[in-house]
Amino acid sequence: MNPLKWKLHWQILAALVLSLMATVVIKSTGGADAALGANVLGACSFLGKLFMNALKMIIVPLVASSIIAAMAGLTGGRDFRRMGFKTLAYYVCSGAVAVTIGLLLVNVIAPGTVDPEVAARMEANANAANAGEIISAKVEGKSAQDIWDVFLRMFPANIIENASNNGKLLGLITFSVLFGYFISRLDEKWRSTQVNFWEGASQVMIGVTELILKFAPIGVFALVTPRLVELGMDLIEPLSKFTLTVLLGLLLHIAALCGVLAFFKVNPWTHLKAMSDPLLTAFSTASSAGTLPLTMETVEKGAKVSPRTASFTLPLGATVNMDGTALYECVVVIFVTQVIAVIDPSFDPLTLSQQIMVVFLALTTSIGVAGVPSASIVAIFLIMGVLGVPTEYIGLIWVVDRALDMCRTAVNVFSDTCAAVIIAKTEGEPIYED
Ligand code: ASP
Repeated sequence: MNPLKWKLHWQILAALVLSLMATVVIKSTGGADAALGANVLGACSFLGKLFMNALKMIIVPLVASSIIAAMAGLTGGRDFRRMGFKTLAYYVCSGAVAVTIGLLLVNVIAPGTVDPEVAARMEANANAANAGEIISAKVEGKSAQDIWDVFLRMFPANIIENASNNGKLLGLITFSVLFGYFISRLDEKWRSTQVNFWEGASQVMIGVTELILKFAPIGVFALVTPRLVELGMDLIEPLSKFTLTVLLGLLLHIAALCGVLAFFKVNPWTHLKAMSDPLLTAFSTASSAGTLPLTMETVEKGAKVSPRTASFTLPLGATVNMDGTALYECVVVIFVTQVIAVIDPSFDPLTLSQQIMVVFLALTTSIGVAGVPSASIVAIFLIMGVLGVPTEYIGLIWVVDRALDMCRTAVNVFSDTCAAVIIAKTEGEPIYED
């Protein structure tokens, strides 16, 4: 029973259980400020950063080499157009289902229609957590105009500069797709050299990914423990209805995606089980970009999706397909307006047409949200600005944002993996038991 020989998901689950136990011990021995708490959390902060840095280090070379290798191997422009069309159709439809679920739940449950006393506690918790300052620093310099910047980001003026930023994967993807596509059209003598080189490079990156993932359980423990320690019941309680609304929405969306998998004759349970490593890692890191190396490895090795399909759908998915995020944005914006109406009776709740605008904006902005922790706060800020909702109230949800970020990121990644297997299936690839 050597734990080092366990499968990765069991090791990660064990790390999560240990993290929970460590939290109980830290809390019962004086909390984060006491000697034990401070030492453990200090070590966690160092190790967590080390693990995240290692994951982020390989994103750019992995994405570039795998997309170029996959595109270079396409047999013609038709392949590319067909895959591109299917991928985008999936992303738009799954995002639309997610925001619709969010919109319905937040209206039916109305988590923001609370007693004035509960609303006051939410405000007090947000102030105690310095939510206002933290969020202002995040959204500094952003304006409604930034919503459309996502299209500009597809064509960066300088690809070297662009590739030096993990938060700007979209430009790198466009460049790599073009680069690989034009390799596929070269004369054979040049084409084969290029294809061999990029396939080799992408295999090297897979090797580095596997090495880093051996440390995932330590990274997960180090990333999750500080989050659990800072999460107090007194903070969650006034936001419990809101938290449950988001969680219910995410669960319903997972159920909807499982239904789509079943429709395409992929066993949802087999898929969920096979994807447990990236899902647990997404949950622990709250970063779909950071999880991307593992997502690609698992979809290719576990679900047997071809490198061609995985390399095309997954990096793009980690950047633009954020179902959990879109659902969350929609619920937060409407929830905040419900609470404002309690605090300030002169504030008019959103009309139906304004809510439809929220749906549209949540879908569009989720495309531009970077796959890093709490990235959707910026999008929520922009949406509230467009609708004329006072943006200072965004701090109301801050105390539970990180916990919900872990959950929505897992849903973001799950949806990406569903896209990969569904597209592979429709391309006639022998995935899973086939
Ligand atoms: N953390 C999310 C992700 O990486 C983005 C967000 O919703 O903040 O997918």
